[in-house]
Amino acid sequence: MSDSFKEVLRSVRESALKEIAQARTEEEVNQIRIEILGRKGKLTLLLRRVRELPSQERPWAGEQANILKTELEEKIEELLVRLHDEEKQRLLSQEQLDITLPGTPLLRGRVHPITQVMAQIVDIFTRMGFQVAEGPQVELDYYNFEALNIPRDHPARDMHDTFYFSDEVLLRTHTSPVQIRVMESQRPPIQIIAPGAVYRRDSDISHTPMFHQVEGLMVDEGVSFAHLKGVLTFFVHEMFGEGTPLRFRPSFFPFTEPSAEVDIGCVICHGEGCRVCGGTGWLEILGAGMVDPEVFSIVGYDPEEVTGFAFGMGVERIAMLKYGINDIRLFFTNDLRFLTQF
Ligand SMILES: [Zn+2]
Repeated sequence: MSDSFKEVLRSVRESALKEIAQARTEEEVNQIRIEILGRKGKLTLLLRRVRELPSQERPWAGEQANILKTELEEKIEELLVRLHDEEKQRLLSQEQLDITLPGTPLLRGRVHPITQVMAQIVDIFTRMGFQVAEGPQVELDYYNFEALNIPRDHPARDMHDTFYFSDEVLLRTHTSPVQIRVMESQRPPIQIIAPGAVYRRDSDISHTPMFHQVEGLMVDEGVSFAHLKGVLTFFVHEMFGEGTPLRFRPSFFPFTEPSAEVDIGCVICHGEGCRVCGGTGWLEILGAGMVDPEVFSIVGYDPEEVTGFAFGMGVERIAMLKYGINDIRLFFTNDLRFLTQF
């Protein structure tokens, strides 16, 4: 056995093991594999030399060289697995999930405050036996004005700032036309409320071009102002709390006679006087009155037979007082910081 072959075998093994021990990356290991086991690698060349040895030495030398080859292949494979694992661990520790972070909350929709207050108003009146009636928002001049005793040249028209489509067609400025439509199609007794959107050309801190009203109408034999007062007192107590004071002030509306404006004791200062109530201790919340006999004649009712009352209120106004909101436009600017408070 040639000592020199043994020597070369030993030195190839030692240098290979040393290089493997120093490798730190998969790339380095692959480089070492080529240097040792590649087509022109040290061990490949050594194996070739086996053929040049005297024939009696070849089996032993070949066996030794193959043992070394297997050993180095296994070492390289082990190292690659280890480096691969280490790299995986390193990445995992970098990408560690912090499960203490709060999750992304699921935003839930809410009912708009105006819709909530509208539903509350409707609920209070339906508990008193009122039925809900609806009418068109695009309305005829006849129902919005004429039939409500507001003829063409009536000064009350100026107060309405109406959106007109033509001389005859407009966006309703109040929910009162629903009264006329109901009375035209039914005979008394009538006990309805008409909630819905109305439109006026007006926009400031207390007006928006679109807002909501709830109209009420009760017609029968012997309906009196006392009934009106009883119904509205119940409503105010349900909406603003038991014991909320209310008063009726004489007023004028073309379609009621007598007419009244209804105030409640200021919900902010409770009568002491504050900025919201202008120091009076009272807040106006609705208009009301006994249906004008002229209106009954227009819809074909006999004013000698039946009497009735009507009232109308602004839903935004009620909501603003209930929640202490000072700018009506907040309801319609779609700011979630505002809307999610209700
Ligand atoms: Zn006040």
